[in-house]
Amino acid sequence: SPILSISDAVKTYGDTHALNQVNLDVAEGEFLTLLGPSGSGKTTLLSAIAGFIKMDSGKLTLRAEDITNRPPEHRDFGMVFQGYALFPTMTVRENVAFPLKVRKKPSSEITKRVNEALEMVQMGAFADRMPSQLSGGQQQRIALARAMSFSPQVLLLDEPLSALDKKLRADLQWELKALHNQLGVTFIYVTHDQDEALSMSDRIIILKDGGIQQQGDPNTLYNRP
Ligand code: ADP
Ligand code: ADP
Repeated sequence: SPILSISDAVKTYGDTHALNQVNLDVAEGEFLTLLGPSGSGKTTLLSAIAGFIKMDSGKLTLRAEDITNRPPEHRDFGMVFQGYALFPTMTVRENVAFPLKVRKKPSSEITKRVNEALEMVQMGAFADRMPSQLSGGQQQRIALARAMSFSPQVLLLDEPLSALDKKLRADLQWELKALHNQLGVTFIYVTHDQDEALSMSDRIIILKDGGIQQQGDPNTLYNRP
């Protein structure tokens, strides 16, 4: 059974159907990518899953439990969103510790998990820096460590690499994929970059005008041998 299900999701802004009857099942451990041009509804769909926006109608279940009306902080997703940057006045360590503190974990566990998360993204040496002292790619690594520090079952990522240059983007794509394979966590990944979607995804959902236009694994979708 799917880890996450969205049924009949509708969200309109005036005359715009940002989500137009979207139905989607996400399998446990899947790397699912939402692909589509600007304005196709990718961020709206991810934000509805995260709970940042309320759907006009529709239902969302996590492991068969109805979470449609649950606030974002009680959905327990790891999140890397554009509008969800590192806290600039906190050190790297404090940033990564934040989701654990919110969840009232004991301090010994926080220390251990923060160190593990920083090692995971190879940023252990930067624990006491401020975000402003890091490059864009390093900041994204820390954002990823923060999103994963509490071992979420599902990670939501909204164009996490779009602000980075081409070389760094390629490196981090590879690292993200490796992390996904290693952890077995479910990834829901938003991008407008077809190459990025092709190189990382188990399944690609192509959105258009707020609806699912096409979906499949990369090879089937693009007829590759
Ligand atoms: P994408 O992430 O694929 O670029 P969005 O989900 O951001 O697309 O937007 C889908 C559509 O909904 C677009 O037409 C966008 O202009 C509109 N939209 C999204 N958020 C809002 C909002 N807060 N107010 C008005 N229109 C919005
Ligand atoms: P993306 O990079 O995914 O296309 P956008 O830049 O379109 O994202 O949107 C960023 C934020 O602005 C989102 O939270 C979205 O809901 C909001 N937004 C998008 N379109 C509109 C709009 N037409 N009016 C108001 N808010 C919007």
